[in-house]
Amino acid sequence: MACFFSPNGAALYLFYFFNIKYFFSQTLFVTFVLLMKKYPFSWLSFCRVGNMFRLVGSYALSVVFKRPIGSAYPYAASFEPANYCNLSCPQCPTGRKLIEKTAQQLSYADFCYYVDALSPYLMYLNLYFQGEPFLNRHLPQMIRYARAKKVMTCVSTNAHFLTDNVVAELAQSGIDRLIICLDGATQASYEKYRVGGNFNKVVDAIKRCVDAHLPVEVQCLLLESTENEQKAVESLVRNLGVTHFYFKKAQFYDDYLLPQNEENRRYYQLEDGRLRVKKAWKNRCFRMFSSVIVDVNGNLLPCCYDKFGHYSYGNIKEQSFRAVYWGEKAMRFRKRILVDRSSIDICRNCTE
Ligand code: SF4
Repeated sequence: MACFFSPNGAALYLFYFFNIKYFFSQTLFVTFVLLMKKYPFSWLSFCRVGNMFRLVGSYALSVVFKRPIGSAYPYAASFEPANYCNLSCPQCPTGRKLIEKTAQQLSYADFCYYVDALSPYLMYLNLYFQGEPFLNRHLPQMIRYARAKKVMTCVSTNAHFLTDNVVAELAQSGIDRLIICLDGATQASYEKYRVGGNFNKVVDAIKRCVDAHLPVEVQCLLLESTENEQKAVESLVRNLGVTHFYFKKAQFYDDYLLPQNEENRRYYQLEDGRLRVKKAWKNRCFRMFSSVIVDVNGNLLPCCYDKFGHYSYGNIKEQSFRAVYWGEKAMRFRKRILVDRSSIDICRNCTE
């Protein structure tokens, strides 16, 4: 992992250096550091602090008693701005068109409704799930709305739609993290994974965002096509003036573009060719209690690994958030994790 200096980069170094991961989730730690930096103490409210205590307490009790206990709200969420994409990445079910769906965007009205329902407790909001978020032209407006409620916002993008106008709007929006995916040091290596993508367009977009002083983080996936270009990608990004950059071990469904170097993989490859995550599964998952996904149709999903929506808890346009989040389906799913996580396919491909 390479990481130039930036406040959340420094926070991540501390996180791993002191092994804080044994006590805290990474997102929670970065959220805390960024909130403290942006709004020293004004983001703290009775609701948020009380909810955090309830959340951690209910998680601990649930792990001990092996059944979901409590009623806290998640402190983090991901909303899906658009469920389709301009690229065709080979390890992405959306890019491969494996999911049957019609192309849709989250409306601004629905977005505000979700934020209003969650913001008394919510501290961190990802504006991405499947699809390219900047296909939704309301994105900068959404970020502004969430920021007005003192919720940290993060967007991850392939950067093909970061035109001058969009970058200017983003600079006004107050976005807290803008993750740009640059998976290669040349067009040839980049397009092996980012099929249909334009390397120069991404490099230009990074320059534009750096010049506009946006909080850019550049991420490069470790793939067969990038693992031997790490130095080249790093020096390219450094020369663009990016202060936060890292390599990420990718999620795979099969071994296409799997790195040759074992150290660059999340997985062991079994003799029959199947992949198995290296990290041992434990019957627990903090994300189950701390965060949630809302897809473009309002379905509440347990986490970003549920790409096909097989474990949906229900729909928050039809019922209240509370009724769905602590409803029967959600409880059944959490119980399964606490008793036998390996029985759930998505959890077997997860390093949480
Ligand atoms: S895949 Fe399972 S273990 Fe991983 S974050 Fe989702 S619910 Fe938790």
